[in-house]
Amino acid sequence: MDQSVVRNKFKNEFGTEGYLYFSPGRVNLIGEHTDYNGGCVLPGAIDKGMLAEIKPNGKNTVSAYSIDLDDHAEFGLEEADAPTQSWARYIFGVCREMIKRGAKLEGFDTVFSGDVPLGAGLSSSAALESTYAFALNEIFNCGFDKKELVLIGQKTEHNYCGVNCGIMDQFASVFGKEGHLIRLDCSTMDYEYVPFNPQGYKVVLIDSVCKHELVDSPYNKRRQSCENAAAAIAKNHPEVKLLGDANIAMLEEVKDQISEEDYKRATYAIQENERLIATCEALKAGDYETVGKNIYETHKGMSELYEVSTPEIDYLNEVAKECGVTGSRIMGGGFGGCTINLVADDKYDAFIATVVEKYKGKFGLDAKVYPVKISNGSRRLA
Ligand code: ADP
Ligand code: MG
Repeated sequence: MDQSVVRNKFKNEFGTEGYLYFSPGRVNLIGEHTDYNGGCVLPGAIDKGMLAEIKPNGKNTVSAYSIDLDDHAEFGLEEADAPTQSWARYIFGVCREMIKRGAKLEGFDTVFSGDVPLGAGLSSSAALESTYAFALNEIFNCGFDKKELVLIGQKTEHNYCGVNCGIMDQFASVFGKEGHLIRLDCSTMDYEYVPFNPQGYKVVLIDSVCKHELVDSPYNKRRQSCENAAAAIAKNHPEVKLLGDANIAMLEEVKDQISEEDYKRATYAIQENERLIATCEALKAGDYETVGKNIYETHKGMSELYEVSTPEIDYLNEVAKECGVTGSRIMGGGFGGCTINLVADDKYDAFIATVVEKYKGKFGLDAKVYPVKISNGSRRLA
């Protein structure tokens, strides 16, 4: 990202120079709907994120300017001072969550800009929160560790932005590491870096630019199905609390006791958990063909068993297969968004051209293409 845009704007606005901080967006290679089933996720930070220049202003108000939205906000640091603009509430929320945890913050001037597409599933919001949580922690010597910064970002979404998110996005943004994905247990925050050096392959997201309206809380229904299956299994295997503790043989034992729908959902959840573990092994062995096969299997499971895909995304997946893409799947919770694709270098250009053209032909929509590299997490720039 071009730092000079932020630098120049800050200079124009405030006539001085501040500190520059960056935090990335993220992808998740595999492990979808696993968090509430007691399994892990496998995100990585990307080379797109939020860049902010910040300088304490000796007052007790914040003066913020969003370059991308061309909008100013001024707000104090008390609970009653919440700004009206939603983008500013992310910054305000971070300040409030830090203050609630004992931080002594003062006012600051800031300008920021990002290149994470908004609302595409790459977590521009986490990039924004992590940037300010990480920066303010350093600038005002708050002494929070990185896990606390993750929670500050998550609680910002819960308490100031009305988004009831987990911790994956903020964790990946803060803890990201070049050449590595993060195997993260969202319930305990235990994590392990898993090597990701796909030499000869690229990672690219194809945005379906299409979201389906959700009716009947489909996420809650799926959660309920998983709980039903886990409860049935627990009658035979009391050690099973969540589907992450179960295996397919255990599920087969109770097949007749649960609904067809619960059985399908549970099959996916158990398989996905096992697939994530197998994928980590394949990554450690540098076996990207197996990684790719698993990614396709996840798509099939999300489409046919968990039923959270869309016709648009299924089509993007189909075209990927036709183009010899190594792995492709719907990324995120479902019902729209992007596919994540692992593509051999020599197939890349043809894939991009074909998928954009065919998607336009079939749905009349311009798919967007976001190439990404797995990169470092929150940091101060020189
Ligand atoms: P995502 O999946 O990208 O996280 P969200 O809806 O959770 O999508 O967050 C998007 C919101 O974050 C935007 O509506 C805006 O308030 C804020 N945001 C993200 N990127 C920027 C940016 N570059 N400039 C200003 N605000 C941004
Ligand atoms: Mg978000």
